[in-house]
Amino acid sequence: MTDALHIVCPHCHTTNRVQAAQWGDSPDCGSCHRPLFAGEPLDLDAASFDRHVERNHIPVLVDFWAPWCGPCRQMAPAYAQAARTLEPDVRLAKLDTEAQPQIAARYGIRSIPTMILFSQGREVARISGALGAADIARWVRSAMPR
Ligand code: ZN
Repeated sequence: MTDALHIVCPHCHTTNRVQAAQWGDSPDCGSCHRPLFAGEPLDLDAASFDRHVERNHIPVLVDFWAPWCGPCRQMAPAYAQAARTLEPDVRLAKLDTEAQPQIAARYGIRSIPTMILFSQGREVARISGALGAADIARWVRSAMPR
């Protein structure tokens, strides 16, 4: 039985098959050779959003934000810190709702920041309002499918 997880590279967006045995030693992308987990949120756009949300075998957390939103900018360092805590169990990503309004509309984003946790392409939880790093990690762990 193969125990491999599909992980989408945050740099070149190639889907990698990562064996369980490689999991502990920060695997690199087979295509671009950069780390699959860099400990920082990745910026999604219309082209990469579906690929990451649907193809990753690990849950994907998306922060819907905008450059003009003060609370969003304030939360950015906490979100980056949460990425270092939650990877490689969860992929953390950001979506600029001003640049990608069609994706924000698809998920009915009415206030930002809003975080949505996806698993296997499906929304499993969402929360609105800025949180600190520890609260983000706690909320994700409690909402994660097991
Ligand atoms: Zn890559």
